[in-house]
Amino acid sequence: MTHSIKGYPFDYTDKQKYSPVYQHSINQRTLIIPGGGCVYYRANKGDVCPFCAFPPFSRYVIKGDNHEDYFDSWALTGDFYKSMFNQALSDRKPFDKLAVFNGGSFFPNSELPNEFQEYVYREVAKRSDIKQLMVEAYPTFISQKKLIQAKEILSSTDLMVGIGFESLDERVRNQYLKKRIDLKQFEEKIKLMQRLGVQVFIYAFLKAPQLTEAQALRETLNTLAYLNNLGVDEIALSCAFVPPGTNLETQFNAGQFRPPWLWSIIEIIKAAKENSWPLSVGGFEDTPPPVATPNNCPSCDEHILQQIENHRLTNNTQQISSLTCQCKEQWQTQVDNSEVSIKTHNKVDYELIQTS
Ligand code: SF4
Ligand SMILES: [Zn+2]
Repeated sequence: MTHSIKGYPFDYTDKQKYSPVYQHSINQRTLIIPGGGCVYYRANKGDVCPFCAFPPFSRYVIKGDNHEDYFDSWALTGDFYKSMFNQALSDRKPFDKLAVFNGGSFFPNSELPNEFQEYVYREVAKRSDIKQLMVEAYPTFISQKKLIQAKEILSSTDLMVGIGFESLDERVRNQYLKKRIDLKQFEEKIKLMQRLGVQVFIYAFLKAPQLTEAQALRETLNTLAYLNNLGVDEIALSCAFVPPGTNLETQFNAGQFRPPWLWSIIEIIKAAKENSWPLSVGGFEDTPPPVATPNNCPSCDEHILQQIENHRLTNNTQQISSLTCQCKEQWQTQVDNSEVSIKTHNKVDYELIQTS
């Protein structure tokens, strides 16, 4: 994090990306602030989502060393967050979308004071250039009350809420990725958001460490088809990486885990195009920076990463279909050992093709 208010760090970055909702490229500013600690993380004393290093990181930057067993809220007061917000928006440069991420859920007051939540809505509503505000929330913390509060203040500005659902497969979602998200509750929250005119953004994960490349690809394709059938506005593919200081780093160093092949990501982009899924591929960077990210081989990585970046920017898949490299055969052998093909738009298939 490169900025700070009285020693408390925060960050903001600008990026252009294709928006499946507006169907053109938009400028997005992303503000990252150290919230008071993901409630879900704190309630489970850290035994959650193995890919997320943000809650302990925000605890560290706010509380300092020797607080590994501290699970009460470590939120700053509203004034700190307002100063971070003001500084991040002070250049008055126009952009279309503002994402405010706090490494947890935006709505619980123990993560971000309610007065700050309202402040964000009011300030965003004043800016005619900002068309869309995006925040994230764990499903339990998405309530009619909070959504209506946001919508009323935001007025004509769109509100998008992101949920880290990750996988339709119960075992992958709730055991491997430790999300503990109940499918029925998830679907109810989506319906609630759709009823209130809130745009729905869902993260889908590629390659839980317990899965082979073939299983991972198959279950991600199932998840995308399912989410598309629910009518969500955008599905963001989150590709596994290796966060520093985690068990996964130990597994990775021992050669027991490989982040997904870029070929698998290319396959997913192609399937999304064929089936008109509102897919965006998330960046491979994170806070704190990963130790390893998705890759193929040294001779094609740079070119293929460039093509994926081009897709992020334009949604163009023309060049993607003709990509090749000698390493593709190795990937192909790994995924050919199982049926990767799926029949989309048919709910029965999701139940038949569970990963096990
Ligand atoms: S992924 Fe989301 S729910 Fe899980 S620990 Fe991180 S912030 Fe909390
Ligand atoms: Zn290669």
